[in-house]
Amino acid sequence: MVHGFKLIKKENVKEINSLVYLFKHAKTNAELIKVENEDNNKTFSISFKTLPYSNNGIAHIMEHSVLMGSKKYPVKDPFGILSKGSMTTFLNAFTGSDRTIYPFSSTNDKEFMGLMDVYLDAVFNPLFYSEKNILKQEGWYYSLKDFDSPLTVNGIVYNEMKGALASPYAQLWNHVLKALFPDTVYKYISGGDPREITQLKQDEFIKFHQNYYHPSNSYIFLYGNGDLNKELELINHNYLSKYDKKEFNNSIKLQNNYRNNIDEEYKYSISRNEEKKNKSFISINWVIEKSSDLKLKAAMKIINDVLASSSGAILKKSLQDKEWGEDFVSSFDGSMKQMLLSLVLVNSDKKYKQNFLNLIYEELNKTVKNGIEKDLIKAAISDMEFHLREADYDGYSNGLVYNFKILSNWMFGNNPIESLKYEKILAFLKEKVQTDYFEKIIKKHLIDNDHKAVITLVPEKGLLEEEMLAEKKKLQKIKKEMSDEDVQRIIFETKELKKYQTKENTKKMLDKLPLLSLKDIDRKAKRFPIVEDKIEDININYYFTNTNNIIYFNLYFDTSVIPEEDIPYISLLTDLLEELDTKNYNYDKLSNQIRINTGGIEYETTCWKYKNNPNNLQPLIKIKSKVIPKKLDKLIELVGEIISNTVFTDYERLMKLIKQIRSELDMEHGYSGESLGIIRLQSYFSKCGVYGDLIDGYEYYKFIRKLDEQFDSKKENIAHKLKEISEKIFSINNFEIQTTLEKKDRDLFKREAVKIKKYLTEKKEEKKNYILKRNRKNEGFASSSTGVQNVYLGANYKDYGYNFEGSFMVLNQMISRDYLHKNLRIEGGAYGAWSILNTSGFFCLSSYRDPNLAETLEIFKKVVKYINNVNFSQKEITRLIIGTISTVEDPMSPSSEGQLGFKMKRIGLEKDYLQKIKNEILDTNSKKIKNHRKMIEQLIENSFVLVYGNAKKIKMNKNIFDKIINLN
Ligand SMILES: [Zn+2]
Repeated sequence: MVHGFKLIKKENVKEINSLVYLFKHAKTNAELIKVENEDNNKTFSISFKTLPYSNNGIAHIMEHSVLMGSKKYPVKDPFGILSKGSMTTFLNAFTGSDRTIYPFSSTNDKEFMGLMDVYLDAVFNPLFYSEKNILKQEGWYYSLKDFDSPLTVNGIVYNEMKGALASPYAQLWNHVLKALFPDTVYKYISGGDPREITQLKQDEFIKFHQNYYHPSNSYIFLYGNGDLNKELELINHNYLSKYDKKEFNNSIKLQNNYRNNIDEEYKYSISRNEEKKNKSFISINWVIEKSSDLKLKAAMKIINDVLASSSGAILKKSLQDKEWGEDFVSSFDGSMKQMLLSLVLVNSDKKYKQNFLNLIYEELNKTVKNGIEKDLIKAAISDMEFHLREADYDGYSNGLVYNFKILSNWMFGNNPIESLKYEKILAFLKEKVQTDYFEKIIKKHLIDNDHKAVITLVPEKGLLEEEMLAEKKKLQKIKKEMSDEDVQRIIFETKELKKYQTKENTKKMLDKLPLLSLKDIDRKAKRFPIVEDKIEDININYYFTNTNNIIYFNLYFDTSVIPEEDIPYISLLTDLLEELDTKNYNYDKLSNQIRINTGGIEYETTCWKYKNNPNNLQPLIKIKSKVIPKKLDKLIELVGEIISNTVFTDYERLMKLIKQIRSELDMEHGYSGESLGIIRLQSYFSKCGVYGDLIDGYEYYKFIRKLDEQFDSKKENIAHKLKEISEKIFSINNFEIQTTLEKKDRDLFKREAVKIKKYLTEKKEEKKNYILKRNRKNEGFASSSTGVQNVYLGANYKDYGYNFEGSFMVLNQMISRDYLHKNLRIEGGAYGAWSILNTSGFFCLSSYRDPNLAETLEIFKKVVKYINNVNFSQKEITRLIIGTISTVEDPMSPSSEGQLGFKMKRIGLEKDYLQKIKNEILDTNSKKIKNHRKMIEQLIENSFVLVYGNAKKIKMNKNIFDKIINLN
């Protein structure tokens, strides 16, 4: 027994180089797992099984609300303050369909222990029991300014979900779950449906907390090199020891009964001017046994890959020859109690439904009869294996990833440690390649499985508008039926909420939250030294580090040899590489070869700005790949094949791929607009911004739409252009290599890497000088599918002669995490709000899933007044400095470090640049921040505006815009 915990299991899990302990807390039955290893990026989380009983979003709103203050830390918004000033590498919370998870990661020991206490107090002793404004602010509330104003609804989760449910995919998914799991918690929208969120009341909210937020219903996770003894002591002494066991009736039912032949149709909203043609989604979905069957789960992932998700997937390929839809996507979900496989035909027409279903079953039957091609299975397993061994989770801490991996198994009562062991499973899968194991699964769990649903989503013109009108009428009716006292009460409560929101935390309260001092911060900045070498005229840039025995091989091609008018073609080229046949491979065989032999190849179009001359840009194609050393020769052969031998004249395939790109962009821009806004805005302010819009933004979208519409008359042209461009770019005169690897592999690398030469042309094109005229406008992007806005205001400080210094980042942290967070999220109800003030000159204030538009712009403009009036103590400045440092020093993967080191070198940043910036951040004081007021004032005065959002709202504010663009 250690601090009240009884050790149940202790195992060495060699796959992740860790010692894993499973404990049970004797007094409460709380379970705890510690994954102990040398990683100093420690993770803590506490999770609860939280079972929704309606679409009122109760679990989700609670996830937000517990982070709004607790007994021991009675500050109003501890989570916001911690995001403003901690060294955390991750800080967030998640609500799933049956669970709520509160994780954070930090590399600092002192902070890790401190935050653990904050998180535990938050979940067990939240303030919302007595402070009713929390549920209002985070969930929903009636807002009423005065007697004659219209009654409206606001709230953070209310607005968040309005944005989240705008996407047809999200709507489809909710209908699927409801159809397949009618007797379980999975039928509910755990995030909440805005129409039902407004039914949630304070007393049921408290009851839900009493019900589920108890140690006996908790799963605690620890990861990294922290002191286990101290960790257990804190958890037991400060929290768990104060509770007794509680019996829970919270097991999740299996959906064993099901209706046969579920075939349902639902509507989603498109605009009144939009064509209904080719806008339907047709899906077939199967429930596959319990997710605790880890072997079956792994096999299902392989089957999903083989049937539907890889380039050469069986169903994808057979749909390729049909004209029934523009895209085909699949998803496999193994996180719920029962697994679910979904296949969706995107941008189709419901008249093709039966054809689609027939084809699926025909192909499945054929596959079972003839057997799956072995290379296809091998490719899928090999891909899975590479990524498991690489364990690079792209910005997420490993602790967090392992936490997610074990949680399902753990919560459903199975041995959680098993989910971390992959060797056995990989060996099992490999052993089954030569048998008919996978075919048998297809037969049993797909073909002969009647627990399935066909769900179709069809477009309906102006549905959202109707719904918004109905909501408005409903609110009018509610107000009309209210007594005068009720109306007065709501006016009073609206004011009270405002008062609560604008009240500042006292210094005494703030002091209770853990805060590092600047002495705890290492003053030394990281370095990413690149070693240059030249072999047979090729520049090689090495970055040596420990890589888990992987070689990262990156090629950089200068694309300034392409004329300005053809820039979008460069991006199209990178979208098409590997998807088309080459001289020696069909595209599906090529995909198999890549996945069997490598960790994947990625193609990216990008643009760098030189430090000393930001108008002199460096456009590039970056080809990133990874491989184990003994297969480097094969990787180079494959990359070489792709860049030298791709065939662009398979018009049928080319047309399909362009349609597919278009349909993906339709989804992205029509329903969420996150990338569209920020990319487009930058085109107002810099050459690189204009370039970015052409390769990745609205201009690229326009380009693709045009190609799609005119494909038949232009196809020869397109193919010719692609060929010409690829020959010009993939030339021996045009490229450099950057590699991240272990020193031991240097000689091998030297020997192999030069072989890439034989795949390159000898074209020597003149470098073009791009004009890239800025697109200065105030634009409104109107979507008839969303009820909320993303609002942006921006400028370029380099236009006014300012130069970047570290204190800009602290100022940015202050505007983002203090000013915008308080005014737009807490008071305004927007789901997100932040600012950018980056090294290249870009300044931007923005909001996300925001119910407002003009009011938000007013708040943006008042930022100058805020900087003028704000009076931060040195301690608050320290908080901002620490938060800033953590944003610049997030742990990176070996490959990202190598790429950053190389980029810094090429754009002319001196060796100690990061050190200089770090010093300037650490030395920021209140005076320095205030000194930037003039700059911000000037930027605001000369700023431009961009809004992505609800069409009606944009039209109501049309005087703000020079141009309104209808997206759908
Ligand atoms: Zn949320």
